[in-house]
Amino acid sequence: MKNKILVTGGAGYIGSHTCIALHQAGYEIVVYDNLSNSSREAINRVSHLIGAPIEFIKGDIRDAKALRQVFDAHQFFGVIHFAGLKAVGESVAKPLLYYNNNVSGTITLLEVMTEYDVKNLVFSSSATVYGDPETLPIDETAPRSCTNPYGQSKLTVEHILEDLAVSDTSWSLISLRYFNPVGAHPSGQIGEDPNDIPNNLMPYISQVAVGKLEKLSIFGNDYPTVDGTGVRDFIHVTDLAQGHVSALNYLDKQLSLNEGDTTQQNSVGFLPINLGTGKGTSVLELVSAFSEVSRQAIPYQFTGRRAGDIASCYASVSSAKDLLGWEAKLSITDMCQDTWRWQIANPNGYN
Ligand code: NAD
Ligand code: UDP
Repeated sequence: MKNKILVTGGAGYIGSHTCIALHQAGYEIVVYDNLSNSSREAINRVSHLIGAPIEFIKGDIRDAKALRQVFDAHQFFGVIHFAGLKAVGESVAKPLLYYNNNVSGTITLLEVMTEYDVKNLVFSSSATVYGDPETLPIDETAPRSCTNPYGQSKLTVEHILEDLAVSDTSWSLISLRYFNPVGAHPSGQIGEDPNDIPNNLMPYISQVAVGKLEKLSIFGNDYPTVDGTGVRDFIHVTDLAQGHVSALNYLDKQLSLNEGDTTQQNSVGFLPINLGTGKGTSVLELVSAFSEVSRQAIPYQFTGRRAGDIASCYASVSSAKDLLGWEAKLSITDMCQDTWRWQIANPNGYN
């Protein structure tokens, strides 16, 4: 089936939004997730929003036997691979867990894909692979380096995908480097549901606005930026979800070129693509936008810089535009509005 996609980690924050976009674009999806950082309720809500059941399998990407059962039961066009652990601080404390889950897990998935001759993959990479960028905006040819095990695990997977593409030219491996995904589905039904006190800025601001947390600590106001606070390229999660649909459509189109002509190779090899808006927003600018949208005061204090943070980071988006025909459409106000709608409708997340 050309339109059947395996979505690993599809119960998570970005995966759940992408499931909706995939369904709306006519793709049939099978979600495979061990629920280590997500809830079955997310899938129930996605199913409710699209008005159709979703095939969900609870399983781990490190479990080759369980993966084989899934590949035995379905003929996939490709895999969108979200499954992974993502907390930078936790990765420093538990590097083996992160390398095992993110790197070994991906190797197991790629081995099973090889067995079943499914050679189209869209991988969730991150702007973190660029480390501290030398120039802005960051394009896909920028040097890569990482300072923590989470980032290293993403970079290592990218190296594995590059080597795989060289070893066997029938692979198409798109590595989508996300900048800072924020926001929620406009229905307010699905969104980001951090387990603990959030590490990331947007969920932290949102929990201060709703009164769950007392005040925001802003990590540094002495960066060489517009107002001294860090600058990031925040991207709405529904725009990001649409980027995955565009990546699959691109693969489908490339692979269909010269169809039937066995002398032609249409696979795309390893292709890294940034998904961002191309615009930088400072921490203070985001706080002010959120405060305006929510009509809540957001108390904050400046504290020292957070170890490992960089001053500024925003994407060059021309590859996404030129190759995938994709562009982010939603504004910072949209991102704040949708986050706020999700937050007030679900003060305790999915629980
Ligand atoms: P998330 O934690 O909400 O989703 C990841 C999903 O993968 C979860 O549902 C989790 O249960 C599942 N999972 C983890 N390990 C698994 C395993 N071994 N087997 C099966 N399922 C497993 O995270 P997210 O924000 O949706 O991120 C999705 C992907 O995008 C991750 O790979 C993440 O590293 C990457 N990414 C996220 C961000 C971000 O800021 N959210 C930025 C860049 C890249
Ligand atoms: N940040 C902050 N306080 C927080 C969380 C984040 O000031 O409680 C800042 C952080 O220093 C960075 C920006 O917000 O400049 C984005 O941080 P986040 O962790 O969301 O994303 P990342 O650092 O991965 O880009």
